Amino acid sequence: MPKKPLINPCPCGSERPLQQCCLLYMQGEVFPPTAEALMRSRYTAYVLGNTDYLRATWHPETCPTTLNLTEAHRWTRLQIVKTQAGSATETQGVVHFKAYYKLPTGRGGRLEEISHFVRIGQQWFYVDGQLCE
Ligand SMILES: [Zn+2]
Repeated sequence: MPKKPLINPCPCGSERPLQQCCLLYMQGEVFPPTAEALMRSRYTAYVLGNTDYLRATWHPETCPTTLNLTEAHRWTRLQIVKTQAGSATETQGVVHFKAYYKLPTGRGGRLEEISHFVRIGQQWFYVDGQLCE
């Protein structure tokens, strides 16, 4: 059977509709269960320009006071390279990812980062990340 094209696929690449994926987290209906799920939803927030969600999921100790998204970056794809811990029963997690973007000039680029997450209660937070060159 041919695969039905997905209507409104989630930008995070989960192959689920946005409404059944990261949007659930952004609307606060449920918390992302794992560090990777939080990472994916934060990527989607970057795609959609949802700074409120980015701040809400940033650890209060490392969250920047101002958060300006560079509109020049049009994020095109997320690739999870590797995850360490970060399951629903753990309190720390590491997600190594590559995020691809296009600039208005048409030039493409890639951001590669190893991000650190902690879980406080039910909720995962982004702490910080190391860029990979
Ligand atoms: Zn998603």
